[in-house]
Amino acid sequence: KKNDPSKGLIFFNPMLYATNLKVEDIKMELKQALSKDEFLIHYQPIVGKDQSIHKIEALLRWRSEKYGFVAPSDFILYAEETGAIISIGYWIIEEICKNFNPLSQTDRPLQISINVSPIQLMDIHFTQTIKKIAEKYSMDFSNLCFEITESVVLDENMVVYDNLHALHNLGITIALDDFGTGYSSFNYLRKYQLDILKIDRIFIQDSSNKYLNIVKNINDIAHLLGMEVIIEGVETKEQFDVLNNMGCDYFQGYYFSHPVTLEELKHLTTKSIPH
Ligand code: C2E
Ligand code: CA
Ligand code: CA
Ligand code: CA
Repeated sequence: KKNDPSKGLIFFNPMLYATNLKVEDIKMELKQALSKDEFLIHYQPIVGKDQSIHKIEALLRWRSEKYGFVAPSDFILYAEETGAIISIGYWIIEEICKNFNPLSQTDRPLQISINVSPIQLMDIHFTQTIKKIAEKYSMDFSNLCFEITESVVLDENMVVYDNLHALHNLGITIALDDFGTGYSSFNYLRKYQLDILKIDRIFIQDSSNKYLNIVKNINDIAHLLGMEVIIEGVETKEQFDVLNNMGCDYFQGYYFSHPVTLEELKHLTTKSIPH
């Protein structure tokens, strides 16, 4: 994230202080990472009011041969700058369609959320390519959700706008991620036909009434606009109880589960889905 106001404290981060030389080297490694099979995907459950799993967010992980485990916040930006995010993005969609198509899911199908970068949406072939990949694996479009960030709607780029509309028309759900950390207004929510609003965890980290009132108001307006609300970063039972009583629809956070491997996810879903 470029300017993430949620990061109030800045801890020492070797990647952040990397020299230009190192940045160039990381970018080189990133370009080769796909062919070296260094990416993997972790999955974080999103639960409903009954705390059973309804949706899943796919989160990219990079195990670099040279740098070890690199967190997404430390490499997504470089992948965007080099354009590598485009092929990485298609790889993610293909992995998801392979692993979550109706044939590979025994229980009721879960909706999978995938983070999509603005760079991907600027590709005029994006929607067509997504359609091809989904059809190749008989994946239902309704089981896919693309999470976009505020910068996407604020940019007002025509290609991005057309892609989002076309994806929405295919039946793919569109969610606005990290709501409240930037400058987007409710006006954009209507214009871009967004289905889901994800309220950033900075709002619930502070348990003061002021912030909870803001969450309550955002939640109510989103509902009036016909959107569902997901609360991010729920870490305690107390937080869940308060937000659940407030009428929020879905919840995501360490209180329910950390992001896990596909194997662990299968275990979680068979355990927690009521039959
Ligand atoms: P995000 O989309 O807002 O994803 C949620 C982040 O919050 C994840 O960090 C997740 O592990 C973390 N999280 C979940 N629950 C909790 C909680 O209860 N407390 C706290 N403190 N954190 C929680 P992660 O996996 O490190 O990803 C960071 C960011 O990197 C993501 O933020 C997203 O913007 C980006 N990212 C991750 N995967 C992808 C991807 O496949 N494509 C793109 N374009 N961006 C990605
Ligand atoms: Ca996200
Ligand atoms: Ca988020
Ligand atoms: Ca975030």
